[in-house]
Amino acid sequence: MNADGQQAANRVIRCAWLLRPGQPPLPNRRLTIEAGLLTDISVVPADERHLIAPVAVIPALVNAHTHLEFSRLERPLEPSAPFPDWIRAVIGYRRQHPTETDICTAVASGVQQSDRSGVRLIGEICASDSAAVELQRAIGETGGRAVCFREFIGFRSEDIPQRVAELDALVASHVAHPVRMALSPHAPYSVHPRLFEAVVSRARAQGGPIAMHLAETRDELELLQHRSGRFREFLDGLGLWDRAALGEYRSILPYLEALATCHRALAVHANYLTDDEIQFLADHPHVAVVYCPRTHRWFGHDAHPAEKLRQAGATVVLGTDSRASNPDLSIWRELQLATRLSADALWQRLPEVTTTAAAALGYDPADFDLQTGRPAAMLQVSCSCNTEAAVGEFLVSDKCQVMV
Ligand SMILES: [Zn+2]
Repeated sequence: MNADGQQAANRVIRCAWLLRPGQPPLPNRRLTIEAGLLTDISVVPADERHLIAPVAVIPALVNAHTHLEFSRLERPLEPSAPFPDWIRAVIGYRRQHPTETDICTAVASGVQQSDRSGVRLIGEICASDSAAVELQRAIGETGGRAVCFREFIGFRSEDIPQRVAELDALVASHVAHPVRMALSPHAPYSVHPRLFEAVVSRARAQGGPIAMHLAETRDELELLQHRSGRFREFLDGLGLWDRAALGEYRSILPYLEALATCHRALAVHANYLTDDEIQFLADHPHVAVVYCPRTHRWFGHDAHPAEKLRQAGATVVLGTDSRASNPDLSIWRELQLATRLSADALWQRLPEVTTTAAAALGYDPADFDLQTGRPAAMLQVSCSCNTEAAVGEFLVSDKCQVMV
């Protein structure tokens, strides 16, 4: 049974459990779908109980952060540490697969992999026009949606006028439904502050979300604080280091302050935050932290501040990041790991891959909430448990899979 909800046919689903974001699971629910809309949710009547499928129905999923150009990798790139060496491996991979055809093939594959794992909205970091066009084509075929964050990199002062000219040319262009265009300055160690500020001002004018990798490693913090360390050596080695390049930027906070001037923003990773930065994010919930649990674990970072952020009232959503640091593109697996690392049940974390994640990308959270009168964008996961406690345990186990 295809429970995606994109089809117009009328149908009824009788499920053992219904899982709505942030709410305890409801047993034995009957869902009526008419012309693609979820029109009724009720308790399965006694004479239909034998028709109940051993599944939990969940909303369609959102992956707030990925780079689909790496989707043909069979395993993550190595070494995972030190981080600048992993960046060198990424640069090496790009040199081995330099053509637009290589990139587009990987993007198309990544869209299909995402679709097969139940992702219906993707926050994709996109490095070229052709990748953006391919994203639009491939997403159109699956019936999903995506935000295409066009990525900007440029650290040397003399390159900035050219990068800003490219930025302005891009702002004048567009991609169309089902893809929305947005902007992404890559990271503090790869983006000159003048380019960063230019991207922020264009994103603010556009009104869309902006995404930036921030506070990913201690090396990044050392570069900002002391202008030294592995990233300094990395930039020196590429002939890109410029003593004046980072200007007044001495920590993550000024980046967060600039991002917060946009309508909405994603601070990707945010693995190493000070208490002041956590408080700033709590005071600015339109700046969402994108936590990528399996990527975080693969790099061997210190514990992520996700729990502290949630408790402070900051917005946390989940992403897979790319297959250069993750074995696959399953956001469900990210949700399972994030749940196992928190004190909460999976349904309490579910908004981070549905409603909250959709809102962070600028979409209507109600489309990912299984409300009556809304599109029936839903999935099923295997689940034959009899009690809420057993459901909670089963949902985070490896045996629990998204059925698409
Ligand atoms: Zn990333």
